[in-house]
Amino acid sequence: MRLSQQGCLRPASLGQLDPKDVELVQAVCPGIHLEHDPYADASHPIWGPIKRVRTGQATDAQIRREGSSGGVVSALAVYLLESRQVDFVAQIAVAAGDPLANEVQMSRTRADVLRAAGSRYAPAAPLARLEEYLSTGQRFALVGKPCDIAAIRNLARVDSRIGRQVPFLLSFMCAGVPSIKGTHALLDALGVERSRLQSFRYRGDGWPGMARAVSLDGQVAEMDYAKSWGTILNRHLQFRCKICPDGTGEFADVVCADAWYGKDGYPDFEERDGRSLVLTRTAVGESLVQEAVRAGAIVVSDLAITEIDRMQPYQLNRKQVVLGRLLATRLRRGWAPRYRRLGLVKASLGARPLVWLRNAIGTFKRAEGEAP
Ligand SMILES: Cc1cc2nc3c(=O)[nH]c(=O)nc-3n(C[C@H](O)[C@H](O)[C@H](O)COP(=O)(O)OP(=O)(O)OC[C@H]3O[C@@H](n4cnc5c(N)ncnc54)[C@H](O)[C@@H]3O)c2cc1C
Repeated sequence: MRLSQQGCLRPASLGQLDPKDVELVQAVCPGIHLEHDPYADASHPIWGPIKRVRTGQATDAQIRREGSSGGVVSALAVYLLESRQVDFVAQIAVAAGDPLANEVQMSRTRADVLRAAGSRYAPAAPLARLEEYLSTGQRFALVGKPCDIAAIRNLARVDSRIGRQVPFLLSFMCAGVPSIKGTHALLDALGVERSRLQSFRYRGDGWPGMARAVSLDGQVAEMDYAKSWGTILNRHLQFRCKICPDGTGEFADVVCADAWYGKDGYPDFEERDGRSLVLTRTAVGESLVQEAVRAGAIVVSDLAITEIDRMQPYQLNRKQVVLGRLLATRLRRGWAPRYRRLGLVKASLGARPLVWLRNAIGTFKRAEGEAP
């Protein structure tokens, strides 16, 4: 995976691919193809397959604080390691020696998981070392964006090692991945020189926590989440994310998100103790959460599914309009990803027709100019 000119990670071919490899890529790449199994349980048109909806947080105060929201993803990862259900967790962390780069890490201890906690709003490829990880013969949990998890589910259809060795798939809701240029713009706004950076985090250390850059001379520059995500990073989303039907991790066992409290009908980003939204999507995910609660790794409360609409208005809106965006992309580019059984027609019925149409027209205008 290499950074493109646009600042997004793209696969680079190291040699000539034979037709069978190309066929495999077409079947597995979530940028091309996403579908639920035909025999899957009935799924909510907006929020996907759901066993149970909860809010919760890590009971370990440090994990809760370091985590992006309530630290539940990290707490589940630590629980899986400490209960020896997996040998390691494959997850994204800051790269050694470059505070702006992300790399996949093999976490074997609580300290490793803590090092990886927190969202990194920049290109990251958790599957980059998948073959190496599978060749260990060990069992591992994978933490990834919804598209990373969908790719693994696609691969599991043709590679039986996934079912045997990757028993837990953890994800988080994703509004899209900003190109690395978003991070550069954020640092420019903070007045921090990239070459003089000692460390950088996007959020965490509180909820939502600050974007925080520390320069080599120890100077600290900070920006709150509403400004860093809402006015800078979200302007740099790649086109594919705008036509993504799966911002909510429909293929994961457990998916977490921010369980924002509301103010005047909108999420309120005032600093608080962290709280995650926790959706279990499979029997595996549901029993993992129940076990983690029994073991005292997380605490949870049930939540009505309708409450997610208020916590995640962006995800609600995108699922409702994505069919329009997709059709517009197909019309303009002559090609669009194939999505099946994702409830997009039903989801569209919930959208206001004018909003749906405006989104389709906007995408039609933009689809030509933007890189895929
Ligand atoms: C690009 C992006 C977009 C997001 N959009 C939304 C959204 O629309 N709504 C919402 O509620 N939440 C969104 N989040 C997720 C949110 O910020 C929290 O990660 C989520 O609430 C889980 O919190 P936690 O405290 O349980 O996770 P933590 O315990 O902090 O664990 C986070 C995990 O995510 C992994 N991770 C971090 N960055 C990446 C990355 N770029 N790629 C792959 N893995 C990564 C880490 O390795 C870690 O295991 C987004 C996160 C990212 C990275």
